[in-house]
Amino acid sequence: MPKISTNAGHTHKAPGASGHLDEVTEDRKIRAALEKYLRQAGWSVHDSTTEEVTSSADLSMICSKANASGSGYFVSIHLNSGGGSGTEVYYSPTSRSDWGKTMAAKISAALASLMGIRNRGAKANNFYVLKHTNMPAILIEICFVDSAADAEAYRRVGPDAIGKTIAECIVGKAIGTPQVAKSGWYKDSRGWWWENGDGSYKKSQWFNPSRGEWYWLGANGYAATGWTLIDGTWYYFAKAGEPGYRECQMVTEAWRKDSKGNDYWLSGDGSMATSRWVDRARYYVGPDGAWDQSR
Ligand SMILES: [Zn+2]
Repeated sequence: MPKISTNAGHTHKAPGASGHLDEVTEDRKIRAALEKYLRQAGWSVHDSTTEEVTSSADLSMICSKANASGSGYFVSIHLNSGGGSGTEVYYSPTSRSDWGKTMAAKISAALASLMGIRNRGAKANNFYVLKHTNMPAILIEICFVDSAADAEAYRRVGPDAIGKTIAECIVGKAIGTPQVAKSGWYKDSRGWWWENGDGSYKKSQWFNPSRGEWYWLGANGYAATGWTLIDGTWYYFAKAGEPGYRECQMVTEAWRKDSKGNDYWLSGDGSMATSRWVDRARYYVGPDGAWDQSR
């Protein structure tokens, strides 16, 4: 049974990069998923993560642990920073085996494809842990913590699927059945989106999950909130806590204000009314939709 030493970079006492994502938090989740899937595929997995030390001393401890483990391979998980975007994987140019170089290219391409971000590819570098581990070794930079787009792609895919993809590259075959989110609404810090249940999500479309309830899912998949211009027509989607509506639900037959305090009427089909009498013909809205108080 092949044995591999897996390492989540840095320590909580000496954390790595942070931004939209926190490296030391996420690399541990990915390593745990990687271990789970490698074990599922029958591999023996050693953990060379170091929480004991506070500084760069952790690099030599990682190598000591990995080298003492009798592992045939070594993989270290990191998240990148410094203003770029995409996935890249490092291997030692002085390794006697071509495993590192081959695996680096394979994993970089697979992760970039999984997350839909740039494939920066395999890169040769004698980083400490690549040089001082005595087995074929790679260091994976999953994505950039300081790139909002990378972070969004990372969150959408999640550490479990990333760990699984790395494991599948290493073992050279698919492991288990793909884990797909169930159909339904999901929410993160940016908002709500709808999973189709087959790994895809709704985007750039209207969605009518139940009678009288309409939502607009934008190009990035998130449900619109507040005033939204769709194909040249203004609509208004409820924000959290608006009475009578679910968050992001299209508002109809009601008044809503803009940021300047002007009042606008939303028709039965949700579109903002212009140049006509509205609300039981009691009020007139002008060509820009604002209530014309002079009529
Ligand atoms: Zn790092």
